[in-house]
Amino acid sequence: MIELKQQELYLCAMQILDGQLVSAAVKSELTIKVAQLVAEGKKVPHLAAVLVGNNGASETYVGSKVKTCQDIGYKSTLIRLPEDISEFKLLNTIQDLNSDPDVDGILVQLPLPKSISDEIVINAIDPTKDVDGFHPSNAGKMVQGLSTFLPATPHGIMLLLEHYRIDTKGMYAVIIGRSNIVGRPMSILLSNNSNPGNCTVTICHSHTRNLAEICRNADIIVAALGRAEFVKGDMVKEGAIVIDVGITRVSDASKKRGYILKGDVEFSTVSPKCSFITPVPGGVGPMTIAALMKNTYKACVDKN
Ligand code: NAP
Repeated sequence: MIELKQQELYLCAMQILDGQLVSAAVKSELTIKVAQLVAEGKKVPHLAAVLVGNNGASETYVGSKVKTCQDIGYKSTLIRLPEDISEFKLLNTIQDLNSDPDVDGILVQLPLPKSISDEIVINAIDPTKDVDGFHPSNAGKMVQGLSTFLPATPHGIMLLLEHYRIDTKGMYAVIIGRSNIVGRPMSILLSNNSNPGNCTVTICHSHTRNLAEICRNADIIVAALGRAEFVKGDMVKEGAIVIDVGITRVSDASKKRGYILKGDVEFSTVSPKCSFITPVPGGVGPMTIAALMKNTYKACVDKN
Protein backbone atom coordinates (compact mmCIF):
# COMPACT_ATOMS: atom_id res chain seq x y z
CA MET A 1 0.00 0.00 0.00
CA ILE A 2 1.32 3.49 -0.89
CA GLU A 3 1.60 5.83 2.05
CA LEU A 4 1.33 9.56 1.42
CA LYS A 5 3.31 12.02 3.48
CA GLN A 6 1.42 14.97 5.03
CA GLN A 7 2.63 17.37 2.31
CA GLU A 8 1.55 15.00 -0.46
CA LEU A 9 -1.89 14.65 1.13
CA TYR A 10 -2.35 18.43 0.96
CA LEU A 11 -1.04 18.37 -2.59
CA CYS A 12 -3.79 15.91 -3.53
CA ALA A 13 -6.43 17.88 -1.69
CA MET A 14 -5.47 21.37 -2.89
CA GLN A 15 -8.39 22.97 -4.66
CA ILE A 16 -8.43 26.06 -6.84
CA LEU A 17 -11.11 28.59 -5.93
CA ASP A 18 -12.23 29.30 -9.47
CA GLY A 19 -13.41 32.90 -9.69
CA GLN A 20 -14.23 32.58 -13.40
CA LEU A 21 -16.58 29.70 -12.73
CA VAL A 22 -18.30 31.23 -9.72
CA SER A 23 -18.63 34.67 -11.31
CA ALA A 24 -20.21 33.03 -14.37
CA ALA A 25 -22.79 31.43 -12.06
CA VAL A 26 -23.52 34.79 -10.37
CA LYS A 27 -23.84 36.48 -13.74
CA SER A 28 -26.21 33.88 -15.17
CA GLU A 29 -28.40 34.21 -12.05
CA LEU A 30 -28.50 38.00 -12.61
CA THR A 31 -29.23 37.53 -16.33
CA ILE A 32 -32.35 35.56 -15.40
CA LYS A 33 -33.40 38.20 -12.88
CA VAL A 34 -32.98 41.00 -15.44
CA ALA A 35 -35.05 39.04 -17.96
CA GLN A 36 -37.76 38.81 -15.29
CA LEU A 37 -37.65 42.60 -14.75
CA VAL A 38 -38.03 43.10 -18.51
CA ALA A 39 -40.92 40.62 -18.66
CA GLU A 40 -42.67 42.53 -15.86
CA GLY A 41 -42.15 45.84 -17.68
CA LYS A 42 -39.82 47.09 -14.96
CA LYS A 43 -36.66 49.15 -15.25
CA VAL A 44 -33.36 47.30 -15.87
CA PRO A 45 -30.29 48.23 -13.77
CA HIS A 46 -28.16 51.05 -15.13
CA LEU A 47 -24.51 51.43 -14.12
CA ALA A 48 -22.62 54.64 -14.88
CA ALA A 49 -18.82 54.29 -14.85
CA VAL A 50 -16.56 57.32 -14.67
CA LEU A 51 -13.02 56.95 -16.01
CA VAL A 52 -10.57 59.81 -15.58
CA GLY A 53 -7.40 59.77 -17.71
CA ASN A 54 -5.81 56.95 -19.69
CA ASN A 55 -4.35 54.57 -17.09
CA GLY A 56 -4.00 51.24 -18.92
CA ALA A 57 -5.06 49.04 -15.99
CA SER A 58 -8.07 51.28 -15.21
CA GLU A 59 -9.13 51.14 -18.88
CA THR A 60 -9.06 47.34 -18.70
CA TYR A 61 -11.04 47.16 -15.44
CA VAL A 62 -13.71 49.62 -16.58
CA GLY A 63 -13.92 47.89 -19.96
CA SER A 64 -14.62 44.54 -18.24
CA LYS A 65 -17.30 46.11 -16.03
CA VAL A 66 -19.09 47.75 -18.96
CA LYS A 67 -18.88 44.55 -21.02
CA THR A 68 -20.31 42.51 -18.15
CA CYS A 69 -23.26 44.94 -17.93
CA GLN A 70 -23.93 44.35 -21.62
CA ASP A 71 -23.61 40.56 -21.24
CA ILE A 72 -26.21 40.37 -18.48
CA GLY A 73 -28.65 42.90 -19.89
CA TYR A 74 -27.90 45.98 -17.77
CA LYS A 75 -27.76 49.42 -19.24
CA SER A 76 -24.34 51.03 -18.88
CA THR A 77 -22.84 54.44 -19.54
CA LEU A 78 -19.11 55.07 -19.70
CA ILE A 79 -18.08 58.64 -19.02
CA ARG A 80 -14.50 59.37 -20.05
CA LEU A 81 -12.92 62.48 -18.65
CA PRO A 82 -9.47 63.94 -19.40
CA GLU A 83 -6.54 63.44 -17.00
CA ASP A 84 -6.38 67.18 -16.33
CA ILE A 85 -10.05 67.62 -15.41
CA SER A 86 -10.54 69.75 -12.31
CA GLU A 87 -11.98 68.27 -9.14
CA PHE A 88 -14.84 70.79 -9.41
CA LYS A 89 -15.84 69.55 -12.88
CA LEU A 90 -15.63 65.93 -11.78
CA LEU A 91 -17.87 66.71 -8.81
CA ASN A 92 -20.37 68.32 -11.20
CA THR A 93 -20.41 65.12 -13.25
CA ILE A 94 -21.09 63.10 -10.08
CA GLN A 95 -23.87 65.51 -9.15
CA ASP A 96 -25.50 65.05 -12.58
CA LEU A 97 -25.38 61.26 -12.15
CA ASN A 98 -26.76 61.52 -8.59
CA SER A 99 -29.78 63.45 -9.85
CA ASP A 100 -30.40 61.31 -12.95
CA PRO A 101 -33.30 59.00 -12.03
CA ASP A 102 -32.32 56.52 -14.75
CA VAL A 103 -28.87 55.86 -13.19
CA ASP A 104 -28.95 53.23 -10.41
CA GLY A 105 -25.25 52.76 -9.72
CA ILE A 106 -22.21 55.03 -10.01
CA LEU A 107 -18.63 53.88 -9.99
CA VAL A 108 -15.61 56.11 -10.20
CA GLN A 109 -12.59 54.07 -11.23
CA LEU A 110 -9.69 54.54 -8.82
CA PRO A 111 -6.96 55.70 -8.64
CA LEU A 112 -7.81 59.27 -9.64
CA PRO A 113 -5.12 61.72 -10.78
CA LYS A 114 -3.07 63.08 -7.86
CA SER A 115 -4.64 66.56 -8.17
CA ILE A 116 -8.06 65.10 -7.21
CA SER A 117 -9.01 63.80 -3.79
CA ASP A 118 -10.42 60.23 -3.87
CA GLU A 119 -12.09 60.96 -0.55
CA ILE A 120 -13.96 64.09 -1.69
CA VAL A 121 -15.14 62.39 -4.87
CA ILE A 122 -16.31 59.21 -3.10
CA ASN A 123 -18.13 61.25 -0.49
CA ALA A 124 -19.97 63.12 -3.26
CA ILE A 125 -21.60 59.95 -4.61
CA ASP A 126 -25.22 59.46 -3.50
CA PRO A 127 -24.92 56.56 -0.98
CA THR A 128 -27.97 54.87 -2.56
CA LYS A 129 -26.03 54.71 -5.86
CA ASP A 130 -22.62 53.88 -4.33
CA VAL A 131 -22.37 50.36 -5.77
CA ASP A 132 -18.65 50.17 -4.96
CA GLY A 133 -19.63 50.46 -1.29
CA PHE A 134 -16.89 53.03 -0.52
CA HIS A 135 -19.05 55.89 0.82
CA PRO A 136 -18.53 56.38 4.59
CA SER A 137 -22.24 55.91 5.24
CA ASN A 138 -22.19 52.50 3.53
CA ALA A 139 -18.89 51.57 5.21
CA GLY A 140 -20.50 52.44 8.58
CA LYS A 141 -23.53 50.29 7.83
CA MET A 142 -21.24 47.41 6.89
CA VAL A 143 -19.42 47.72 10.22
CA GLN A 144 -22.75 47.54 12.04
CA GLY A 145 -23.91 44.57 9.96
CA LEU A 146 -26.80 46.55 8.37
CA SER A 147 -28.02 46.00 4.81
CA THR A 148 -25.82 48.02 2.45
CA PHE A 149 -23.56 47.82 -0.59
CA LEU A 150 -20.56 45.76 0.48
CA PRO A 151 -17.26 46.79 -1.15
CA ALA A 152 -16.99 44.72 -4.30
CA THR A 153 -13.68 42.90 -3.74
CA PRO A 154 -14.29 41.67 -0.15
CA HIS A 155 -17.91 40.93 -1.09
CA GLY A 156 -16.69 38.85 -4.06
CA ILE A 157 -14.30 36.92 -1.80
CA MET A 158 -17.15 36.13 0.61
CA LEU A 159 -19.27 34.89 -2.34
CA LEU A 160 -16.38 32.65 -3.39
CA LEU A 161 -15.99 31.14 0.09
CA GLU A 162 -19.76 30.67 0.27
CA HIS A 163 -19.90 28.96 -3.13
CA TYR A 164 -17.27 26.40 -2.09
CA ARG A 165 -19.11 25.93 1.25
CA ILE A 166 -15.94 26.66 3.21
CA ASP A 167 -16.84 26.69 6.87
CA THR A 168 -14.62 29.46 8.24
CA LYS A 169 -16.13 29.39 11.75
CA GLY A 170 -13.41 29.70 14.41
CA MET A 171 -10.60 30.06 11.89
CA TYR A 172 -7.70 32.46 12.39
CA ALA A 173 -7.60 34.86 9.42
CA VAL A 174 -4.64 37.09 8.61
CA ILE A 175 -5.20 39.95 6.19
CA ILE A 176 -2.18 41.67 4.67
CA GLY A 177 -3.17 45.23 3.74
CA ARG A 178 -5.47 47.73 5.46
CA SER A 179 -6.91 49.77 2.59
CA ASN A 180 -10.50 51.00 2.81
CA ILE A 181 -11.40 49.14 -0.35
CA VAL A 182 -9.95 45.69 0.41
CA GLY A 183 -8.10 44.89 3.65
CA ARG A 184 -10.16 46.76 6.24
CA PRO A 185 -13.63 45.75 4.95
CA MET A 186 -12.37 42.18 4.51
CA SER A 187 -11.48 42.11 8.21
CA ILE A 188 -15.03 43.21 9.12
CA LEU A 189 -16.75 40.65 6.90
CA LEU A 190 -14.58 37.74 8.06
CA SER A 191 -15.12 38.66 11.71
CA ASN A 192 -18.94 39.03 11.36
CA ASN A 193 -21.21 36.57 13.11
CA SER A 194 -22.11 34.94 9.78
CA ASN A 195 -21.15 32.11 7.51
CA PRO A 196 -18.63 32.58 5.97
CA GLY A 197 -17.31 34.64 8.85
CA ASN A 198 -16.86 34.03 12.56
CA CYS A 199 -13.09 34.24 12.14
CA THR A 200 -10.60 35.72 14.56
CA VAL A 201 -8.86 38.35 12.47
CA THR A 202 -5.47 40.06 12.43
CA ILE A 203 -4.76 42.92 9.99
CA CYS A 204 -1.15 43.42 8.91
CA HIS A 205 0.36 46.45 7.18
CA SER A 206 3.74 47.85 6.26
CA HIS A 207 4.69 48.44 9.93
CA THR A 208 3.77 44.95 11.13
CA ARG A 209 6.59 43.13 12.91
CA ASN A 210 7.09 39.39 12.41
CA LEU A 211 4.68 39.27 9.49
CA ALA A 212 5.94 35.87 8.28
CA GLU A 213 5.45 34.38 11.74
CA ILE A 214 1.91 35.78 11.99
CA CYS A 215 1.09 34.34 8.56
CA ARG A 216 2.44 30.90 9.53
CA ASN A 217 -0.28 30.66 12.20
CA ALA A 218 -3.10 31.59 9.82
CA ASP A 219 -5.86 29.25 8.70
CA ILE A 220 -6.79 31.88 6.09
CA ILE A 221 -4.46 34.42 4.49
CA VAL A 222 -5.89 37.26 2.41
CA ALA A 223 -2.99 38.94 0.61
CA ALA A 224 -3.94 42.46 -0.49
CA LEU A 225 -0.77 44.53 -0.46
CA GLY A 226 0.11 44.97 -4.13
CA ARG A 227 3.64 43.46 -4.00
CA ALA A 228 4.15 40.74 -6.60
CA GLU A 229 4.75 37.26 -5.10
CA PHE A 230 5.30 38.64 -1.59
CA VAL A 231 3.79 35.64 0.20
CA LYS A 232 6.15 32.65 -0.13
CA GLY A 233 5.68 29.01 0.72
CA ASP A 234 7.62 29.29 4.00
CA MET A 235 5.08 31.87 5.27
CA VAL A 236 2.13 29.50 4.94
CA LYS A 237 1.11 26.57 7.11
CA GLU A 238 0.01 23.25 5.68
CA GLY A 239 -3.67 23.23 4.78
CA ALA A 240 -4.14 27.01 4.81
CA ILE A 241 -6.70 28.78 2.63
CA VAL A 242 -4.98 31.51 0.59
CA ILE A 243 -6.84 34.34 -1.13
CA ASP A 244 -4.67 36.37 -3.50
CA VAL A 245 -6.11 39.82 -4.17
CA GLY A 246 -3.01 41.40 -5.69
CA ILE A 247 -2.72 42.34 -9.32
CA THR A 248 0.64 43.74 -10.40
CA ARG A 249 1.84 44.19 -13.95
CA VAL A 250 5.37 42.76 -14.20
CA SER A 251 7.39 43.52 -17.35
CA ASP A 252 7.85 40.53 -19.63
CA ALA A 253 9.36 41.22 -23.03
CA SER A 254 8.35 37.75 -24.26
CA LYS A 255 4.67 38.74 -24.09
CA LYS A 256 2.98 40.71 -26.85
CA ARG A 257 1.54 43.22 -24.37
CA GLY A 258 4.94 43.53 -22.63
CA TYR A 259 3.87 42.37 -19.17
CA ILE A 260 2.31 39.55 -17.18
CA LEU A 261 -0.04 39.81 -14.21
CA LYS A 262 1.27 38.61 -10.85
CA GLY A 263 -0.58 38.18 -7.61
CA ASP A 264 0.72 38.90 -4.12
CA VAL A 265 1.30 35.18 -3.61
CA GLU A 266 4.09 33.06 -5.06
CA PHE A 267 1.80 30.39 -6.46
CA SER A 268 4.52 27.79 -7.17
CA THR A 269 5.69 27.57 -3.53
CA VAL A 270 2.40 28.36 -1.75
CA SER A 271 -0.17 26.28 -3.65
CA PRO A 272 1.32 22.85 -2.73
CA LYS A 273 0.73 23.66 0.95
CA CYS A 274 -2.83 24.98 0.63
CA SER A 275 -6.22 23.39 1.00
CA PHE A 276 -7.71 26.14 -1.20
CA ILE A 277 -6.11 28.93 -3.21
CA THR A 278 -7.25 31.58 -5.69
CA PRO A 279 -5.24 31.92 -8.93
CA VAL A 280 -4.20 35.23 -10.52
CA PRO A 281 -5.73 35.90 -12.93
CA GLY A 282 -9.07 34.10 -12.61
CA GLY A 283 -9.64 34.27 -8.86
CA VAL A 284 -10.63 37.43 -7.01
CA GLY A 285 -10.73 39.69 -10.11
CA PRO A 286 -13.82 38.15 -11.75
CA MET A 287 -15.52 37.91 -8.34
CA THR A 288 -15.05 41.67 -7.83
CA ILE A 289 -17.01 42.33 -11.03
CA ALA A 290 -19.68 39.78 -10.07
CA ALA A 291 -20.15 41.50 -6.69
CA LEU A 292 -20.37 44.91 -8.37
CA MET A 293 -23.13 43.54 -10.61
CA LYS A 294 -25.00 42.20 -7.57
CA ASN A 295 -24.75 45.62 -5.91
CA THR A 296 -26.05 47.34 -9.05
CA TYR A 297 -29.03 45.00 -9.18
CA LYS A 298 -29.75 45.75 -5.52
CA ALA A 299 -29.49 49.52 -6.16
CA CYS A 300 -32.05 49.20 -8.94
CA VAL A 301 -34.64 47.01 -7.20
CA ASP A 302 -34.35 48.84 -3.85
CA LYS A 303 -35.44 52.05 -5.60
CA ASN A 304 -37.92 50.90 -8.21
P1 NAP B 1 -3.25 49.91 -1.23
O1 NAP B 1 -4.32 50.91 -1.00
O2 NAP B 1 -1.97 50.31 -1.83
O3 NAP B 1 -2.95 49.21 0.18
C1 NAP B 1 -1.90 48.32 0.32
C2 NAP B 1 -1.81 47.89 1.76
O4 NAP B 1 -0.77 46.93 1.86
C3 NAP B 1 -1.49 49.03 2.73
O5 NAP B 1 -2.27 48.91 3.89
C4 NAP B 1 -0.01 48.83 3.03
O6 NAP B 1 0.37 49.18 4.35
C5 NAP B 1 0.11 47.31 2.92
N1 NAP B 1 1.47 46.95 2.57
C6 NAP B 1 2.26 47.42 1.58
N2 NAP B 1 3.46 46.84 1.60
C7 NAP B 1 3.45 46.00 2.64
C8 NAP B 1 4.41 45.12 3.20
N3 NAP B 1 5.62 44.99 2.66
N4 NAP B 1 4.07 44.38 4.26
C9 NAP B 1 2.83 44.49 4.81
N5 NAP B 1 1.87 45.30 4.33
C10 NAP B 1 2.18 46.05 3.26
O7 NAP B 1 -3.77 48.68 -2.13
P2 NAP B 1 -5.25 48.10 -2.37
O8 NAP B 1 -6.04 49.07 -3.18
O9 NAP B 1 -5.82 47.55 -1.13
O10 NAP B 1 -4.87 46.90 -3.36
C11 NAP B 1 -3.98 45.88 -2.99
C12 NAP B 1 -3.72 45.00 -4.19
O11 NAP B 1 -4.94 44.40 -4.60
C13 NAP B 1 -3.18 45.72 -5.42
O12 NAP B 1 -2.33 44.85 -6.13
C14 NAP B 1 -4.43 45.97 -6.25
O13 NAP B 1 -4.16 46.08 -7.64
C15 NAP B 1 -5.20 44.70 -5.96
N6 NAP B 1 -6.64 44.80 -6.13
C16 NAP B 1 -7.23 43.80 -6.80
C17 NAP B 1 -8.59 43.78 -6.94
C18 NAP B 1 -9.22 42.65 -7.67
O14 NAP B 1 -10.35 42.77 -8.10
N7 NAP B 1 -8.52 41.51 -7.79
C19 NAP B 1 -9.37 44.80 -6.41
C20 NAP B 1 -8.74 45.82 -5.68
C21 NAP B 1 -7.36 45.80 -5.54
P3 NAP B 1 0.33 50.71 4.89
O15 NAP B 1 -1.12 51.01 5.15
O16 NAP B 1 1.14 50.69 6.12
O17 NAP B 1 0.88 51.54 3.79
